[in-house]
Amino acid sequence: MNSAEVKQKAKDIGFELFGIAPIGPFPEAVFYPKWLESGYAGEMRYLERQKAGRMDPQSVLPGARSVIVCAMNYNTNRPLTGYDRLRAWVSRYAWGEDYHETLHEKLEELSRWIEEFSLHRTRTYVDTGPLLERVYAKYAGVGWFGKNTCIMHVFLGCILTDFELPYDTPVPDRCGTCTRCLEACPTGAIIEPYVLDSRKCISYTTIELRGDIPQADRPGIGHHLFGCDICQDVCPWNRKARYSANPAFQPKEGLFWPEIEKLLDFNEDEWRQLIRGTAMKRAKVKGLLRNLMVVAGNSGAPRLLPRLRKFLSHSDEQVRSHAEWAVNRLQDHD
Ligand code: SF4
Ligand code: SF4
Repeated sequence: MNSAEVKQKAKDIGFELFGIAPIGPFPEAVFYPKWLESGYAGEMRYLERQKAGRMDPQSVLPGARSVIVCAMNYNTNRPLTGYDRLRAWVSRYAWGEDYHETLHEKLEELSRWIEEFSLHRTRTYVDTGPLLERVYAKYAGVGWFGKNTCIMHVFLGCILTDFELPYDTPVPDRCGTCTRCLEACPTGAIIEPYVLDSRKCISYTTIELRGDIPQADRPGIGHHLFGCDICQDVCPWNRKARYSANPAFQPKEGLFWPEIEKLLDFNEDEWRQLIRGTAMKRAKVKGLLRNLMVVAGNSGAPRLLPRLRKFLSHSDEQVRSHAEWAVNRLQDHD
């Protein structure tokens, strides 16, 4: 088996981009512990726990030689138009089937095939294992991470293996003098090029943060119910990106600009139905309700007040306190 056969198999399985990287060390990895020490990971303590594995793949798979990086484009043809203040935003990556599952299945298939025909060992990762996926994507020639710290509109999965394969050429940085993402970030979370303070990022706040959303951060969340795409959507490189026709990544009904009033009327079962099978499960219904209170409070639409007031007696203390904030904010508009 050679690298061309591995790549052909990746293509046959349905990956659109793939490449092979050495396991490092890379200069970017030096940055990672410093980033953690600065507290920029916020409550994402699993990143600290996984530090050793992320820094040294040998500790995960002794004898590891290569990382096979595979990616799928999730950029669907849905322009940003359609916004009005009675609607909320769900990040594009969460519109379709949960990418963890979609990619995991495909990576497992590739992984089993490599093990069977090369007799080498493999470990697969989709955003869950201790690999610095974005660094490997760069060195595998799959994509570069921009000043917004993202690899553009693709889902990444990696296979760590002790199979030594020829490595691809890293992708050069294509940001140049552009600073659009830094300027467009509404919360100043990209504190300098290539450095994200997650604690300020709307994606972190609406998905990872389990506690109360700090009051000072709530207005900046705007209409973002789950995640934020601003720094990706303003990127000139993403404007040129192809659209994916993959049915798995097309928006599930109700997730493209959902109406706030409808969401405020949802019962628990309707919420569960809405997020079933999508990456939104991560925030849980309670977290989404907390976010919804903030989005409704930011809407500037006093007509939401009667619906919002119902949440002042919600069974969950966090939802109640965020509802109180939202009601007070909207009353100021009344
Ligand atoms: S996702 Fe949104 S809040 Fe986070 S860095 Fe990008 S623009 Fe800023
Ligand atoms: S918006 Fe500009 S600076 Fe930001 S990632 Fe894209 S090209 Fe790089």
